[in-house]
Amino acid sequence: MLKIKHFCPTKSTICLCRRIQFFPTAISHVSTTSIPNPNGNQKQETRPDYPFLDTKFNQYQIAYRYRHTIELLRGYFVYRLFSINFLVNNQNKIAYWGRRILGEKVFHKVLKLTAFGHFVGGESPQEIIPVINRLQKYHVHPILDYSVESDDTNSTASSDHVQRMHDDNTAKFIECIKTSHDICGANNLIAIKVTALIRPSVLKKLNTVLQSINNREVLPALFEIINQDETSGKTVTRLQQSLQLQNTTDQKEISSSVRFTTDELKEIYQLLLRLNKIAQACAQYKISIMVDAEQTYFQNAINYLATELQRYYNKNNIPFIYGTYQCYLKETLICLKRDLALAEKYNYIFAAKLVRGAYMEQERRLARENSYEDPINANFETTTQMYHVCFDEVMKSTVKRSPNQVRVMVASHNEDTIRYAITKMKDYDIRRGSSIVSFASLYGMSDYVAFALANSGYKTYKYLPYGPIEALQPYLFRRAQENRAIFQKADKDRRFHLQAFKDRIFKSTN
Ligand SMILES: Cc1cc2nc3c(=O)[nH]c(=O)nc-3n(C[C@H](O)[C@H](O)[C@H](O)COP(=O)(O)OP(=O)(O)OC[C@H]3O[C@@H](n4cnc5c(N)ncnc54)[C@H](O)[C@@H]3O)c2cc1C
Repeated sequence: MLKIKHFCPTKSTICLCRRIQFFPTAISHVSTTSIPNPNGNQKQETRPDYPFLDTKFNQYQIAYRYRHTIELLRGYFVYRLFSINFLVNNQNKIAYWGRRILGEKVFHKVLKLTAFGHFVGGESPQEIIPVINRLQKYHVHPILDYSVESDDTNSTASSDHVQRMHDDNTAKFIECIKTSHDICGANNLIAIKVTALIRPSVLKKLNTVLQSINNREVLPALFEIINQDETSGKTVTRLQQSLQLQNTTDQKEISSSVRFTTDELKEIYQLLLRLNKIAQACAQYKISIMVDAEQTYFQNAINYLATELQRYYNKNNIPFIYGTYQCYLKETLICLKRDLALAEKYNYIFAAKLVRGAYMEQERRLARENSYEDPINANFETTTQMYHVCFDEVMKSTVKRSPNQVRVMVASHNEDTIRYAITKMKDYDIRRGSSIVSFASLYGMSDYVAFALANSGYKTYKYLPYGPIEALQPYLFRRAQENRAIFQKADKDRRFHLQAFKDRIFKSTN
């Protein structure tokens, strides 16, 4: 293997580069490296000489430069609090009593000074600007996440009120796209949740109907029809007709028990219009959206809508729409393969975020209570295996199709998974700065991984939730509850916060 490194004019310059770990763009020297390509051949390529990455992820010195000293101490205490099972299990009760004893105002202040401050960017676009600037200074790109979601499948709230709320949420997502464009520039990302745009009970019904369809390809190209004629409801009529036709063909029992009412069909149509409006704003501002994955009783419908959006909007070399694949589900590999094949057939960019999945406890409880097969993999190892196989599948597709027709985001705090992705990138000859593979973590978590990756030239993102405290409180609490496993494992995050704080105080480092 031929390696020509250090094209620096003087030896001392080389050492300095190495030690202070400049970001790659600041380094002008070039190395020639032989890398095996996926076909097993050796290929010689010229590429920038990236700063060293410790794949054991112990470079905490680079991790917290964006945090103020006091925030490091807060991070340490928040991690301590979140590792106490009693607090996480009883957070709703504690919040209730906290409100009653302290009053709403003081309670909000306490939250803002602790968990909210650590895991959330702020309450408004104005509040998150300094946070974004600090992240970007260290080459970590924010994914703005205006946090609104709903899981109330039994809601009977008045239709007008609900429609207004969903229209407001659409406007908020569009504002989020504009904010991302204005502060971060084009080619950045925001996240959306479909449950913020339609009544959960209707989405759940659509999910059930879609689940009964063997071949989704018989369904109409939703956004093509909608963009031909936005004013008529013919998209939904065509969708309903094909669903009914397909159900009759497949002779599924489900079809007779799940029929949409006229109002529900109108709601589905409104949802399509809202999604279309959001996607049009994406195209206008050159910002992409990540369609988050949610519970299995919504996820088929969410995946279908995300795929339909991709089919229309991911055509012109920019992946405006990313879907999400939850690798804790037994069926994920099958879905991912199906969607990769669809993208290839209809020639659009396949863009995906891979996650393990955030609703494990709820999914397992529902399966137990309703006596159906648990949709979650039997254990953590199987989930990890599923994650890695799904990643492999996307990598294979970069060879099969042209590489710029595929994008994958490794959204995980798991060091093994990140190491796995890095190794595969080398195997498939994907350079670090490439947009084909990117990495993402949540704001306030695993900074020692994210900032190390960004420092060494990998495309790195942080989900940056923002919004009013009341709206974000359930999100925050759910995160703590569902991610209990991580918080117990969060010893490293906690230790590094304290170590970085001590370094600041006693060694006066940055
Ligand atoms: C940027 C980003 C975006 C995200 N977006 C979404 C999203 O859209 N939808 C969503 O659902 N989640 C989302 N998540 C959350 C994600 O799904 C995980 O809950 C979280 O990241 C923890 O997984 P991990 O790989 O980071 O960490 P790890 O600690 O390695 O993994 C913990 C996860 O492993 C799985 N697991 C744990 N024990 C078992 C078991 N016994 N059997 C099977 N599986 C098990 C669970 O999924 C658990 O959350 C996102 C996470 C990130 C970082």
